[in-house]
Amino acid sequence: MQLNKYSFGIGDRFAHQGVAQLQAFANAQKEGIDVVPVWNKSHREHTTIGSTPDTVREEAENSVKSLDWEGDYHVDADHIGLANVDFFMKSSDFFTLDVTAHIGKEPDPADHTEFLKQNQLFVGKVPVDGLEEPLSITSQDLEHASRKFLAGMKEASRIYSHIGNAKGIGNFITEVSIDETDSAQSPKELLLILSALAQFKVPLQTIAPKFTGRFNKGVDYQGDLGQFKTEFEADLAVLKFASEEFGLPDDLKLSVHSGSDKFSLYSIVREAIQTFNTGLHIKTAGTTWLEELIGLAEAGGEGLSISHEVYTKAYRRFEELAGPYADVIDIDTNHLPKPEEVALWSSDDFTLALRHDPTGTAFNPDFRQLLHIGYKVAAEMGNRYLQALQNHEKVIAKNVTENLYERHIQPLFHSA
Ligand SMILES: [Zn+2]
Repeated sequence: MQLNKYSFGIGDRFAHQGVAQLQAFANAQKEGIDVVPVWNKSHREHTTIGSTPDTVREEAENSVKSLDWEGDYHVDADHIGLANVDFFMKSSDFFTLDVTAHIGKEPDPADHTEFLKQNQLFVGKVPVDGLEEPLSITSQDLEHASRKFLAGMKEASRIYSHIGNAKGIGNFITEVSIDETDSAQSPKELLLILSALAQFKVPLQTIAPKFTGRFNKGVDYQGDLGQFKTEFEADLAVLKFASEEFGLPDDLKLSVHSGSDKFSLYSIVREAIQTFNTGLHIKTAGTTWLEELIGLAEAGGEGLSISHEVYTKAYRRFEELAGPYADVIDIDTNHLPKPEEVALWSSDDFTLALRHDPTGTAFNPDFRQLLHIGYKVAAEMGNRYLQALQNHEKVIAKNVTENLYERHIQPLFHSA
C-alpha cells in the first residue's frame, strides 16, 4: 500500500467533523493540490473520550460517501505499541509504531555487533547529496546510537511483524515515531536509526523524529527558525540517502507531529520539500475541536454558554487536565482570564481570543492551549455537547474547513 506524496493527518475528538474536514481536501483538489487525508486518533485519546477505533473508520467512510471523495484516504492507529495495537487492527490501514518506551534500552548483543559491523563503513566523513558538509560519524557515534536506538527499532520490527501477520504484508502503511522522546535526533542519528530499521527489515514509509524547538499543542512553533530549517533540510537529505543506501522505500518521508498551527514553519517546510522533491506527512494536534468551540461561541445563545462552561470547568481542573500534556504545552496561568470575566464575554470576545490569528491583538495562546486540553470537559457533557454540535453544524463546519484549508493546507502545499 502506497502513501500519496502529500498526506495530512486529521484528528477529530468527537467524530462529528469528518465531512467538514474532508471538504478542505476537496477544496485543495479543486486548486490542484493533491493531499490525502489520514484520520488519526491515538489510544490515549480514545481512552479520554471513551471512543473506539471502529468509530474513526466509520467516520472516514461516511464522510467519503457523503462528499463522493474519489481519492485515497487512510485511518491511522496513532502512537500504538504491542500492548494496544490489536484494538486498531481491523479499522486501520496506517500504523504509527511508537517505540519511545524502548529508547535507551540495552540492545541484544548479537544485534549490537551486527549494527556496528554494518555501519563501520560510515565511520569518517559521509558525503550526502544535498548537504553542504559531509556527515562526520565516529565509532563512538555508532556505539552511542546502538545503545540508544537499537532496542527501540527492534521493537518496531516486532510490532510491524505482528501487524503483518494479522493484515498481510503490503496491506498497510508503516510509520515509526520517536517524537515523544526527551531530545531531538540529529541528522546523523536519523541516518543510523534508519540503518537499524533496515537491519530489522521494517519497510517504513514515514518517520516522525523529534525536531529541535517546542511543538506545543495548538500554538505556533517556539524555537530558532534558522536552526529548524538547517535541521529539516539535513533530515530530508538523509532520508534520500538512506532509502537508496539501505533499500528502504524510495518514497520515505518525514512526518511532522503536532504540526497544526506551526504557521512560522510552513514556508520553510514547503520550500524544503519542493527543493528536495519529496513528500510530507503532517499530523494535526486535535485542534479541530477548538473550531467546534469557536463555532459554538459564534452561534451565540446555548452554544456560547457551552463554550463559557467548558472554559470555566477547564480552568478549575487545570492540574488534572494539564498533567498528561505537561511536555507539550506551555501555559502561563497568569495570562488566563478569570472564568467570571469570560462568562460575560460576547461571541466576538470568545472567538477572537481563541481563533489562531497570531496578528490579532485579542488572540490569547494560553487561553487556547487550556481549551485545547479541555476536551475531557466537553466529553463529560455527553449528549448536550453533541446535540449542540448538530444544532450549530453549519457555522462549526465553516470554521473547521477554513482552518484546515486556509491556515494549513494552502500555506504548506501550494506550489506558487
Ligand atoms: Zn507524535
